Amino acid sequence: MTVSAYYDDIAKCNKCGFCHVACPIFRTTGHESGVARGRLALLRGIIEKRVEWNEELEDPLFTCLGCGACTTNCFGKIPTTDLVLNARAEYLDKIGKKPAHRLLFEHLLPYPKRLHVAARAVALGKNSGASKVANALGLLRIFGRDLPKAEGMVDKLPMSSFRGTVKPGVYPGTGDKLKIGYFVGCGMDVIQVQAGKATFEVLKTKAKSVTVMDNCCCGLPPYTYGDLGNTKLLARKNLDVFEKLDVDLIVTDCSSCASFLKKYPKIFKDDERDAARANKELPMIKDVVEFLYADEQDGKKSSDEAAGSYHDAHASAPQQLTGTGKGSVIVTYHDPCHAVRGQGIKDESRGILKNLPGVTFKEMAEADWCCGGAGSYALTHYDLSQKVLDRKMKNLKDTDADILVTSCPACMIQLAYGIKRHGMKTKVFHISEMLDYQEQLKARQQ
Ligand code: SF4
Ligand code: SF4
Repeated sequence: MTVSAYYDDIAKCNKCGFCHVACPIFRTTGHESGVARGRLALLRGIIEKRVEWNEELEDPLFTCLGCGACTTNCFGKIPTTDLVLNARAEYLDKIGKKPAHRLLFEHLLPYPKRLHVAARAVALGKNSGASKVANALGLLRIFGRDLPKAEGMVDKLPMSSFRGTVKPGVYPGTGDKLKIGYFVGCGMDVIQVQAGKATFEVLKTKAKSVTVMDNCCCGLPPYTYGDLGNTKLLARKNLDVFEKLDVDLIVTDCSSCASFLKKYPKIFKDDERDAARANKELPMIKDVVEFLYADEQDGKKSSDEAAGSYHDAHASAPQQLTGTGKGSVIVTYHDPCHAVRGQGIKDESRGILKNLPGVTFKEMAEADWCCGGAGSYALTHYDLSQKVLDRKMKNLKDTDADILVTSCPACMIQLAYGIKRHGMKTKVFHISEMLDYQEQLKARQQ
């Protein structure tokens, strides 16, 4: 659908400017073109033919983080993120897709095995120093204008994917009723492998069986770039996988995937058959944070409490943590945009962390502000993404936290890089790792 179809939504903007204070991009640049009001004015100008489609639109359309903070602050609840994403789709149709996007969206993301091979090749290049050579030769520019700058964001990459080690299939758990399907997001599969393993272990303590799913990418990356065709292709492939599963719940430890899987019915709003399929699966989709919190609440009375002996098994963790020289570990939390605004998950993460033995939870100012990660935003807008991140780092510093917890692999990369750049010592953990932190701490202290 073209932007013209959304004229009524766009025209709802009364130009009050309340979105300005919440927009990380506006607060960083001070430019009207970076805030919802400015972006909506631009879209209106396009529809009214006062602005022409050309490459000059790329920046105003693609600098939006899609964080949704403007909508939260807008009386009319104008869905600026969705409107901008629709405009991106039209931009790509009119101006043309980039070859790197075609490679990623059409040839890698639909096929997990190909993605594993590509990730291994990238890891080899990274870990052997070859990517630095490619960078020096200017080759990385092909994959994104700022990739040469962003190349140093990750020091090392895992040589083996999560599903390279734990193959898709059904694994027995120690719980006595639930059958869980573990949806493995690309970021958890090929980058945050350690966190994926922690989730898998935690889920096994909660369920009778855990099925490591043979899913493909959830579809969010092409959707973010405005490529609805490839988004639907990925979503349909996943719906095929879901329908063949014999599980009670589908749990994922990537808040971006969880939020997007819950959006499938909307993606297929013009396709009755697939919308019905997506709606049928919808109640089964759970972010691991909401699942673990609900389990903890239920655990007090449910028969799965025995299986939930996970917490009992880790009751000695504080002693291990005091071994780091501190009486209690200070933990804070960063809300991924796709958790807090995408799914309304906020109190659950705090509930889990405050319940962990040996942990002192300290709330961070602006914990729900975007970290600037926004998927692969740093690859295309490195400088802007780092300026947004600097604000988060200042807030983190004020907490004196030993550990920063979150639930999105892209946020984990961005936050860890910010910590390194600012010379801080805080460790970044996925919330699943916190439940498994005894082992994780040992591993990372070596
Ligand atoms: S808060 Fe909403 S209505 Fe007000 S300027 Fe921003 S987008 Fe427009
Ligand atoms: S989605 Fe986020 S970055 Fe985009 S305009 Fe709204 S507040 Fe700004």
